[in-house]
Amino acid sequence: MKTAIEIIGTLKRAGFEAYLVGGAVRDFLLGKNPKDFDVATSAEPLQVKGLFKRTVDTGIQHGTVLVLVNGTGVEVTTFRTESDYSDNRRPDSVNFVKSLDEDLKRRDFTINAMAMTETLEVIDLYGGRKDLEHKIIRAVGDPDSRFREDALRMLRAVRFSGQLDFSIDDDTLASICSNAGLIEKIAVERLKLELDKIMSNPNAVRSIDYLVASGLADHLPAGDIFKSDWKGFIPTEDPLSGWLYALWQNQRDVSALAGYRFSNEEKSLLKNALAAASNESWDAGTFYRHTVRQLELAARLKRIHGDWAQIKSELPVQSKSDLAVNGRDLMRWTDRKSGPWLKDAIAAAEQLVVYGRLANDKEKIKEWFLHEYNCNE
Ligand code: ATP
Ligand code: MG
Repeated sequence: MKTAIEIIGTLKRAGFEAYLVGGAVRDFLLGKNPKDFDVATSAEPLQVKGLFKRTVDTGIQHGTVLVLVNGTGVEVTTFRTESDYSDNRRPDSVNFVKSLDEDLKRRDFTINAMAMTETLEVIDLYGGRKDLEHKIIRAVGDPDSRFREDALRMLRAVRFSGQLDFSIDDDTLASICSNAGLIEKIAVERLKLELDKIMSNPNAVRSIDYLVASGLADHLPAGDIFKSDWKGFIPTEDPLSGWLYALWQNQRDVSALAGYRFSNEEKSLLKNALAAASNESWDAGTFYRHTVRQLELAARLKRIHGDWAQIKSELPVQSKSDLAVNGRDLMRWTDRKSGPWLKDAIAAAEQLVVYGRLANDKEKIKEWFLHEYNCNE
């Protein structure tokens, strides 16, 4: 906050208008710590760059410059209005308009359309403060036109309902219901970002109820997964716990989410967490095979608790490389050439060691091995 105010001060001293805008004003008024800070200014991007030592051109074509002061980044954007939406997706052009009013008017919801001066005076042209008090999410202006301009706003309304524990205003909700189909035009990456935020907010279930009630779920990839019973879902900061819950509840595997283009890392986490959760009872083998994060995700589904990192650390070995023997040792102890038997023998030793049935000791493993694999044949 201090840094954002400092940046506003610098812009003002240079003769420009500058205000804190958007979510940071909303969160400040709610007594919450804003996650990020946005400043709107009459200065053009090049003028902004001229005033600060460290800047990054994060979105200069959209009039945004990231200003870095005291290690904090603040997005400084030239006042703008977005005109000519033709495909319900993104503005075709961004005109720089030197007016705060125009800038606030193009924002999505009244609670996100307030500005604040460096002396913390709130500029509220669209009734955002009242809606904050009544815990209401209301589109700025005519909801139908706003959602046709950018259909993602419908999903954002649903996201904020959970994030803030607010209701969606009746007219705004009715408009989402009638425009729900437009969400199909939105790039899946943008959908996924919002859905991740829905899954990881404390009142996720409120958002998911809206998702279904508004009909938006019918137009989302694998939208039926939102229709199952979410009452037992306990959200965490990890959005994957929500996606995992959806798969588990619907008895689906990760391929059900193909439409969202999860990263390979996310897919592997989900797949392995589902496998861990499917294990009836967890034993040393489960702890050995799965990472702490996979165990944590799966444990939440099964409503079991444990210090998985601690439990894992107590295993005799953490991975194959911790085994006291390797393939070369085994070959040395026999006259046999490498072959599938070698992998089997290592896996068998690994299994016994993990379960504590064989000490992780070279001599002991050698004794076991010569008995099992050499002398018997
Ligand atoms: P948070 O950061 O807590 O998730 P936020 O309100 O800051 O919430 P951002 O996505 O960071 O949300 O956007 C910052 C501000 O930009 C919003 O408060 C809103 O004023 C405006 N905004 C963002 N996305 C849109 C959009 N699709 N249409 C209109 N205005 C938007
Ligand atoms: Mg923000």
